[in-house]
Amino acid sequence: MDLLDTLTAKGLRGETPTREEALAVLATTDDELLDVVAAAGRVRRRWFGRRVKLNYLVNLKSGLCPEDCSYCSQRLGSKAEILKYTWLKPGQAAEAAKAGVSGGAKRVCLVASGRGPTDRDIDRVTDTVAAIKDADPAVEICACLGLLSDNQAERLKAAGVDAYNHNLNTSEGTYGDIATTHTYADRVDTVQKAHGAGLSACSGLIAGMGESDEDLVDVVFALRELGSDSVPVNFLIPFEGTPLAKEWNLSPQRCLRILAMVRFVNPDTEVRIAGGREVHLRSMQPLGLHLANSIFLGDYLTSEGQAGQTDLDMIADAGFEVEGMGESTLPRHRADVAAAAGGCGTGTAGGAGGGCGPAAVPGEDADTAAVGGGCGTGGGCGPCGGHGHAAPAATADQAAGQTADQATGGTADQATGGTAAGADEVRTDLVRVRRRGAGTELAPNA
Ligand code: SF4
Repeated sequence: MDLLDTLTAKGLRGETPTREEALAVLATTDDELLDVVAAAGRVRRRWFGRRVKLNYLVNLKSGLCPEDCSYCSQRLGSKAEILKYTWLKPGQAAEAAKAGVSGGAKRVCLVASGRGPTDRDIDRVTDTVAAIKDADPAVEICACLGLLSDNQAERLKAAGVDAYNHNLNTSEGTYGDIATTHTYADRVDTVQKAHGAGLSACSGLIAGMGESDEDLVDVVFALRELGSDSVPVNFLIPFEGTPLAKEWNLSPQRCLRILAMVRFVNPDTEVRIAGGREVHLRSMQPLGLHLANSIFLGDYLTSEGQAGQTDLDMIADAGFEVEGMGESTLPRHRADVAAAAGGCGTGTAGGAGGGCGPAAVPGEDADTAAVGGGCGTGGGCGPCGGHGHAAPAATADQAAGQTADQATGGTADQATGGTAAGADEVRTDLVRVRRRGAGTELAPNA
């Protein structure tokens, strides 16, 4: 396919495709899908080798948000029976973080529901960061606390936070359809505040909210323009009790095309499969690793992920390897730019350019090895920044602590024009409200 040859060549050079080329990726057929994955996979290996960065979510404060993001189970008026609790104490958060780091995560994402932090909240996060870094100074920390006011990003940077997550979620043109209590411009402003303070910017999107292909391409190009070091790609989990409960329109094939498009537009940026991975990619998750170089380990903010060990087994079985604490994530040229801007751009490898060899990531093609190794940072966290992922609604059984399973579901056919499953179908096999880990007495999944 000429299109894929062109996109691969551009990606290997670190160039961004045209908008039309990005749209063409989303329009490819199922017959072409493996060719698309193979082409984007070459680009992924060129810049990130076979490494998979693991990130671990710690929900510091859950539910009861005054904002009305329609995809979010923590939103104003949500009927989802998720865990609701106020700020974890620093020791509690550090204990939760430890579980993720022990499981292989190099980044911990500290997330709190709400419009944005108060100065007192910044104090709480400062104490939490100290508790985590006391235990393990090498761990990367990304904060995701909502809209930032003046000087808050600088305070977080001074506290040792490495990155800040705040997602754009969807295109500027449709943002007003998914939230009314803040604007797309507010979100852009917070990403710029974080970047300006020297924090690595993590900002991504949510697919499956009824947006068009043009909307998806718009937001992905906007993220490239913003200079996001990490792009979390969430796949909406429609859940009962929210306005998007019936937006079940993704298939594994559609998700793979979206990931491939994001990779082509952001060839040398950390691309993370975020919320909805298990729900929408299902048995196709390993193919997603050929496109994204980063995932969350274990559970999400308000919903459960697959077992942490299953994540690790999947990575090994697919021929990938977990990125270590001493390795940088971003390619050298990206990490250098981030560091020059004062950002963490370096990841736990520390310092700009730290840990990046000039070449050769195991498994790279010869041409990929010709340019740079990998260092850097990136990462991101939960739904507040937009990406954490929409959590599923709870059922009465779940609220009662039973083995839980709920959520509406659909089939792959829905996204490809085939026979759609009923929008009201409940996929109890796919989604569970989180009832363990942070905010509970039960051990976390990591
Ligand atoms: S995404 Fe964040 S700001 Fe929006 S409703 Fe959810 S917790 Fe609140």
